[in-house]
Amino acid sequence: MATARFRFHGELADFLPRERRNSAFAYACARAATLKNAIEALGVPHTEAAEITVNGARATLDRIVREGDTIEVHPWNPANQGPTTFFSEKRGLSPNFLADAHLGGLARFLRMLGYDTLHENALGDAEIRRLAWQERRIVLTRDRELLKCREILRGAYVHALKPEAQLREVAARYGLAAQARPFTLCLSCNVALEPASEAQVRAYALPVVLERYRVFHRCPACERVFWEGSHFARMREALHQLQLPLRPAPK
Ligand SMILES: [Zn+2]
Repeated sequence: MATARFRFHGELADFLPRERRNSAFAYACARAATLKNAIEALGVPHTEAAEITVNGARATLDRIVREGDTIEVHPWNPANQGPTTFFSEKRGLSPNFLADAHLGGLARFLRMLGYDTLHENALGDAEIRRLAWQERRIVLTRDRELLKCREILRGAYVHALKPEAQLREVAARYGLAAQARPFTLCLSCNVALEPASEAQVRAYALPVVLERYRVFHRCPACERVFWEGSHFARMREALHQLQLPLRPAPK
């Protein structure tokens, strides 16, 4: 066993019992425990540790905890974004997500911004772990035990309860506003919308719509047709409320 002093910063306190929040405390780790083992035994999933220092030097999650170590764990924030541990996310790539069964509202918002987001109510934990590994998806969940799984290299614990606040949280962590391509995915199917001709649209839209709008899109999966009318206006308004600085919708 090795006894080390731990301190968890910022929102990581949410994972700790009250007496361990906002102060350093001693903890006796299991034999040959890594930083991943130790911080997860204390309740914090590895995906939430953006930066860890041991005795003042940056460390990765596979480092073994030694007697007398002083360990500081920092959460994600705009100032420390960057790959600091071998589990952390690759910056710069357009992220794709897997939202667990409880985050349907968040999944629709992410699709609205054009981010590929898998979401099915029927997915079990084993399936989520498999897809996260195979498709390198960022798992979004409020289940901290799920995020402790090794197959989930990239994941985020969603602190907020309301979808709008959840989107703000995820958008800030992954810098989503800068790369957003609003209204390019079907909100129901997570499939890229295709341009649709007036002839294709005629069966679905009222004549007044055909008269007023020239640009139409269609989902190749569910075959719903979209135009830049009230549907888009409502979505833009919803996104505007989130105060995300979005680029204009593609023409
Ligand atoms: Zn669809």
